Amino acid sequence: MTGIVHLVGAGPGDPGLLTVRAVELIAEADVVLYDRLIPPEALAHARPDAELVYVGKEGEGPQVPQADTHALLLGHARAGRRIVRLKGGDPFVFGRGGEEALVLRQAGVPFEVVPGVTAGVAAPAYAGIPVTHRDTASAVAFVTGHEDPAKPETGLDWPALARFPGTLVFYMGVRTLARIAERLVAGGRAESEPVAVVERGTLPGQRTLIATLGDVAERAAQEQIRAPAITLVGPVARLREQLAWLEARPLHGRIVAVTRARAQASALAAGLRSLGATVVETPAIRIRPLETTLPPLRVYDLVCVTSPNGAELLMDRLRDARDLAGITVAAIGPGTARALKERGIEPDVVPERAIAESLVEALEHVPVKRALIARAAEGRDVLPDALRARGVEVDVAALYESVPEPLADGAREAAAGADYLLFASASSVRFFAQAGGALEGPRLVSIGPATSDELRAHGAEPDVEAAPHTPDGLVDAVLRDARA
Ligand code: SAH
Repeated sequence: MTGIVHLVGAGPGDPGLLTVRAVELIAEADVVLYDRLIPPEALAHARPDAELVYVGKEGEGPQVPQADTHALLLGHARAGRRIVRLKGGDPFVFGRGGEEALVLRQAGVPFEVVPGVTAGVAAPAYAGIPVTHRDTASAVAFVTGHEDPAKPETGLDWPALARFPGTLVFYMGVRTLARIAERLVAGGRAESEPVAVVERGTLPGQRTLIATLGDVAERAAQEQIRAPAITLVGPVARLREQLAWLEARPLHGRIVAVTRARAQASALAAGLRSLGATVVETPAIRIRPLETTLPPLRVYDLVCVTSPNGAELLMDRLRDARDLAGITVAAIGPGTARALKERGIEPDVVPERAIAESLVEALEHVPVKRALIARAAEGRDVLPDALRARGVEVDVAALYESVPEPLADGAREAAAGADYLLFASASSVRFFAQAGGALEGPRLVSIGPATSDELRAHGAEPDVEAAPHTPDGLVDAVLRDARA
């Protein structure tokens, strides 16, 4: 039984530019053979038991000979595995994908190709440069520049490239920039021709240098432009002046560390990224569901849900939404209300401020005999105490607990180097500090009063407190602070 090889493009670096098909195939693969210039997030889609093998060879760092990659591909295929051969950008654009496909064809191994977003188009696009433009660029050429100044680009007809009627896009070639510029000028391109060099295109820290053929080598050296970079030659480079958009986003260049549990961090991270922030996830906390037995809900006339996790885990325990029929449902705040609505329950009571005291107030005139509070094991007792003081019979169902998780390699440093450090719960403050995370350096953003108090208990004053006390409120707090 022979396996199958998918030659898959991973895009230029921004994980959002992975294709849907690439993600699907990575998730199914038994083996992923990957290069250096792929977004690390791509590998997070792989099955936990998948074999992930680094076979990169470009640039500094470990080099895996191409013959070894071929041998690995054939070996895994003959063992009947599903293999994803993951390459930066597009697999058939300067990626040696063609070579690998030929080896597979000769060996009779089935393969398929999944194109990717190529750096030569994506890096300019993120820099605000369209590679073609009506009137000024009706053609575009992709050219390899080679990184080794000792190896001349033998295959290239420089006079023809100089005469090419359109945009020239050079892959590689940061170290041979001077020679590229010289040869184009020698071939007849004007020294004043605009050039853009885009370093780390679509990745955090992308930089763009706009120069001319005459001075690009010198300026790139001054600015210490490093690989990976795309060099684009042509009048379209000037459009960046008008079309630069990346740097215009409100959180561009800000690094935000999110200490939330990984499973919950993604919506928050997406909100921040869409505003241009670079997000590092540094969770020191994990949600562990508990095997609590729930009494039949019909004995209650009030069910209070005090977190989105509580909402999800409560609904998981029910047969369906009808189990809550006729019962008043209270959510502690808008985030929890949203989690309930997503599961088909419109809560009757939602205070504006997502804190227990506000919920107590909002419930003041609601007639209650027996209440269930669905929450975390470690929740505060403000709500049950206040209800009991009113003579309500209260059961507390601890549906989950937050447990500490050790900070991953490099997370401590990443958090310390961030501009903002976000805390979405008091327990995340506690566990982050316990795990050795520093509460000084970045500006501290807290989701609400309980989290702020916990920061103070650790000797740190929050710089910003979110209002409303929700993940959206947190994003908004960072935005307001960055603008101030
Ligand atoms: N198959 C890839 C190209 C591989 S060659 C693709 O289609 O994009 C490697 C070269 O691609 C690098 O030397 C650099 O010139 C370019 N490159 C890859 N990723 C890049 C990035 N994020 N920003 C700028 N250039 C990049």
